[in-house]
Amino acid sequence: MSNQSPVERFRAQIQEVVEELDISPSVYQILKNPKHIMTVSIPLERDDGTVETFTGYRSVHSDLLGPGKGGIRFHPEVNQEEVTALSMWMTLKTAIVKLPFGGAKGGVVVDPGTLSRRELQQLSRQYVQQMEPVIGPQKDIPAPDVNTNGRVMGWMMDEFFKLRGRNVPGFITGKPPVVGGSEGRVEATGRGVVVNVMQALEKLEMDPSTTKVAIQGFGNVGSVTALRLYEENVSVVAVADVDAFIYDENGLDIPEMVNYLEKKGSLQGYHHHDGSPEDIFEVECDVFIPAALENQITEDTAQSIKASIVAEAANGPTTAKGDKVLAENGIFVIPDILCNAGGVMVSAFEWMQNDSHDHWAKQVVNARLDKDMAQAFQEVYDMKEEVNNNKTMRHAAYYLAVQRLGDAMYARGWVD
Ligand code: GLU
Repeated sequence: MSNQSPVERFRAQIQEVVEELDISPSVYQILKNPKHIMTVSIPLERDDGTVETFTGYRSVHSDLLGPGKGGIRFHPEVNQEEVTALSMWMTLKTAIVKLPFGGAKGGVVVDPGTLSRRELQQLSRQYVQQMEPVIGPQKDIPAPDVNTNGRVMGWMMDEFFKLRGRNVPGFITGKPPVVGGSEGRVEATGRGVVVNVMQALEKLEMDPSTTKVAIQGFGNVGSVTALRLYEENVSVVAVADVDAFIYDENGLDIPEMVNYLEKKGSLQGYHHHDGSPEDIFEVECDVFIPAALENQITEDTAQSIKASIVAEAANGPTTAKGDKVLAENGIFVIPDILCNAGGVMVSAFEWMQNDSHDHWAKQVVNARLDKDMAQAFQEVYDMKEEVNNNKTMRHAAYYLAVQRLGDAMYARGWVD
């Protein structure tokens, strides 16, 4: 287990579960590698006329349950290994919440903060041009992820329409609603995280009105999660982003912080700024929510976490060693592949709306998200309690996902 990479972590977990389920070892053989990974070199003409080349990836891990599905991330630390692991987790995520999708993920190695708006648009369009052979509404459907948003999806959609010479709205999700996006998609991941947190509080017989929450990350997922908790009268006492640590034991004014973020682009300089981002792990709280990048809860930082519940809003925030520490300390972990599935769930609703040329009201989207997410939580919880002798929620989630994937492989004649 020494410093396992995310891909190794995925493989070890799948192998363990395949053995426990006593199903064909071929299930592990099929899941251990992605179906394909496309690597492209994207030349971009900078505003000063020079050309710079960026590397882009798209990994489709599985198309067993439907077309590949997953976001595109723009980040300087994107690499093939990370994109692969993220696509693997998408396969499990869509299986757990019973969506008609496989798992995929894309990324570009770039710090979007260093690009002008024109350059960013060009890069987004070029990515689609280069990936055109492998993406499409019945093949592999992109969406937003870290540092990409509705704006980027709108540009990508436009480029794809031009390439195909016709409208193909179901090619990408997370689009602005005016061009076929779903109401509630922007808030969906955070909303789903809060459904999971409320369910966990109920199971552990904790009172939401006295619950204190700490959140690492204040991007789309972290900020919407904070706002939803605030609306539910759950006290968010600490928030950290890359630059800042904000703490108030009596609860933060989240709407004010969201306003500040919208104006300034970061929490730096916000008036409660009184520590460094790593202080978030030390906070006295009942629920800790990692909502940033991978590998944040390590053997070290896990020791500091005082919460009873960890709700993984980010993808892969906990290392294998960190996970062991959380389990030893009796912390109830809501695993990423369940906790943050609200985003891809509403992406599925968007794809369905595009397919039937329909537009659902926000209340319809939210009500279905709340219901389906609560049901997914319950199924994982039941699996943990009844079948898995009270092992962790993560173990139960993997168990459930692999069982479904194994059944589908059998139904399609891939395994006996
Ligand atoms: N990027 C999000 C995730 O990691 C959403 C993916 C999607 O909507 O396809 O789940």
